[in-house]
Order: sequence, then C-alpha cells, then structure tokens
Amino acid sequence: MIDGHCHLLPLHLRVPGSKAWRDPWFAACHAMEFPRFASGEDVVQALDEVGLEQAVVFGWPFADPGLLREVNDYTAAEVGASGGRLIGFATVNPGQASAGAEIGRCQGLGLSGLGELNCDAQGFNLAWEGGLRSTLKRCEEMDWPVLLHASEPVGHLYPGKGTATPGRLWRLLEPMVQAAPGLRLCLAHLGGGLPLYGHMPEVRDLCQRLWFDTAAIPYLYRPGVLRAVTELLGADRICFGSDFPLLRPARYRVQLEEMSESAARQWLAPATRAWLGRP
Ligand SMILES: [Zn+2]
Repeated sequence: MIDGHCHLLPLHLRVPGSKAWRDPWFAACHAMEFPRFASGEDVVQALDEVGLEQAVVFGWPFADPGLLREVNDYTAAEVGASGGRLIGFATVNPGQASAGAEIGRCQGLGLSGLGELNCDAQGFNLAWEGGLRSTLKRCEEMDWPVLLHASEPVGHLYPGKGTATPGRLWRLLEPMVQAAPGLRLCLAHLGGGLPLYGHMPEVRDLCQRLWFDTAAIPYLYRPGVLRAVTELLGADRICFGSDFPLLRPARYRVQLEEMSESAARQWLAPATRAWLGRP
C-alpha cells in the first residue's frame, strides 16, 4: 500500500530568506505562520501511523533548474536512507532546455518517475508541444510514471490552485494518448474534476487511460466524491496520494470509507501500483 504524493524539502531551503522563498509559487503556498515541510523520516512516520508501506516522494515544482537539482539530490539521498520505504521521483521544468539532462542525471541517482509537475508554478506551456511533449515522450520511453498537478475551474480560490483545469488539460491529453500510448500519467487532485465529466463517452474513454490521485480532496470535495468517480470510471483509476505534509494520510480515512470498505482497507493499492508499474 503506497502513498503516491508526498513533498520533501531539504532543511536549508526551509529557512525564510533562502532562495526557495524567491520562487513566487513556493512563497505563496507557504505563506502561513507555520508552513509544513517534511524529511524522508517524517514521511515514514506518517506512513506508519496508518499502516502504509511505501510513499512516492519528490521535491517542489520550482521554476529554477538549480533549485530543482538541489531538491532532486535531497530526494535521492532520503530515498537511499529509507530502507526501501520511499520511492523517489525527479522534478524538472519541461519549459527549460536542461530538463532532458536532469532526467538522465536523476535516473543515475536512482529516481524512477517524474513529478509533481506544475505549469503555473514552473511557467511551462501546458500543451502537447515543445518541452512538455519531449519530456513526456522521454518518460514513456523510460517507463517512468508521471504526476501532473491539476485544479478545479470553479469554486473557491486558494494559494496553489493554478490554471491546469480540465478544459486546458483536455487539449494536452487528446493528442498525448494518441502519440504516447504507453505513458502512465496521473493527474493530481482528482484531475481538477475531469473524471466528473465521465458521463460523456469520450471523456470516460480518455480517463480510462489515465490515473487520478486523491491529494488534498478533504479540502476540496465532500466525502462522496470518490464513490461518484468510482461509479463513472471504476476504482482502478483512483490512486491514493496525501499531499503530505499538507495533509497526513490519516485525514483520508473518511473519504476512503465513504468509497468502499475495501478501498479503506487497501488504500487504493491496486490503482496506485498499476500507475507506478509495480503490480
Ligand atoms: Zn499539486
């Protein structure tokens, strides 16, 4: 049983005034009195509270490639020290020419997937062209799962919401599933609600080729949302992701129990493992 969505941050970048805070998206998302940050050990502790075995960990979607290298190095070190509890993803900026080289470097460090990418935080073009296309094609070739941030086109505003909404995502995804049929892409935060359009046959067909994670849904939806998505797409499309340290995995019990007893018992393990390519 795996938590597929946890953020790590090295100690020196947590300090106010460090270069992380000059990244406007990072600063906006952590502008509270006690912002939460996590080490690999913190993640393992949160897993142990609820009996989860492993977590996918990654840094923050910084725009600057130097910061991305630092968080990727930290992620790899924490994964190495975790005794197999942590699975590390690389974070790169698809909008920058250095993305390809950084993916290769991270593979050498033992990282095995890509994410969480965020078009608003990182400033890349959310379209099947240019940097994003070549980055995603590369992940397909390497058999790397990918996690992409998504958000709701409606409802309340909050720091970190962004504009990767179902309408914009649709224009990326339609050509993507044709051109990269082997790519395993998970859209975070229930894909900004894309699965809720699953009564439309073409939306349902496309969503059957993607995964959607549960990250932050206790802040966004009523508990019944997972049952609704299960009815539209099937439970095998929903991955468990907590967005730790924003929320602890334990906070998701209510949503999972509302979905089904077995989902609550297994923490959506079959879908999460399928996305990660670890059956
Ligand atoms: Zn996100």
